[in-house]
Order: sequence, then C-alpha cells, then structure tokens
Amino acid sequence: MSRDWTLDAPCRDEHGFTPSEDDFASEADLRRLCGPLLATCGPCPFRAVCIATVKPAQARFDGIAGGRLWWGGLVIAALDDVFEDELTEPKLRASCGTEAGAQDHKRHGERVCPSCRQAEREMAARRKAQKAKQPKQLQLDFA
Ligand code: SF4
Ligand SMILES: [Zn+2]
Repeated sequence: MSRDWTLDAPCRDEHGFTPSEDDFASEADLRRLCGPLLATCGPCPFRAVCIATVKPAQARFDGIAGGRLWWGGLVIAALDDVFEDELTEPKLRASCGTEAGAQDHKRHGERVCPSCRQAEREMAARRKAQKAKQPKQLQLDFA
C-alpha cells in the first residue's frame, strides 16, 4: 500500500485550512483568517491531488486547497505560481465560447475549456489591434 500523501504535505501539522463556519461571517473574514496560510501551499507538490480530493467547487468549500483560497467553492485568491492543470475538468455552461465563460471557469476553480480559451485569445488580439490603432498621446514637456 502506498504512503498517504497527506503525511508529506506542508500543511500536515497546520490548522486553519478548513475553518469552521463559526469562525467567519464573510468573505473578508475568511481572507483575513486564511490568507496568511496560503503561502504554505507554495512548495507543496500535491496541489492537483489536493484539489481532486477536496473537490472545492462541488463541495462549495471554504478554506485553502491546492494553493487557492476558496469561498463557497469559488477561488477568491491564489498563489502567483499556480498552474491551470492543477484544476479539475471544466464544466460546460451557456457562457462557454465567450470571454465571460472563461471568467466563469476561473471563478469556479476549473480549467478553461477550449472554446472559452479561443474566445479569450481572440478578445486579447482584438484589444491589442485596437490599441495599436489609437494615436499615441502627445508628451508635452513644460520644464
Ligand atoms: S496544496 Fe493542499 S496539501 Fe498542499 S499545502 Fe496546500 S492545502 Fe496542504
Ligand atoms: Zn467554457
């Protein structure tokens, strides 16, 4: 039998990753409570398995899992170096195929589906093209 991965997780002796509902009344409370613990996930090699085990989106989880802070199953904060492939499969929604759909996936802690990814790329290219068309602002030097 293989060794239980949670025994090797950086959070194994830490408390407060899954706070009790009595400990916080708002998203801001949860940020204050758990935000400082998020850095513990930095060196953790088990982020993907942590998310797959906790299933934060489905469980409407409040707390820290996989390098993210979750509030009712939505990601409200994340480490800078999190990877999308640590997340679970995307759920297809009516918003899929749009930039808003990509945002929905991200809020729900899922990978972005291919059609939303494509929509994101197209919007980014369109914005870049529009920016390139705008005349450069005159820089006046009154010194
Ligand atoms: S990713 Fe999961 S297992 Fe690893 S430190 Fe964070 S909460 Fe613990
Ligand atoms: Zn999508």
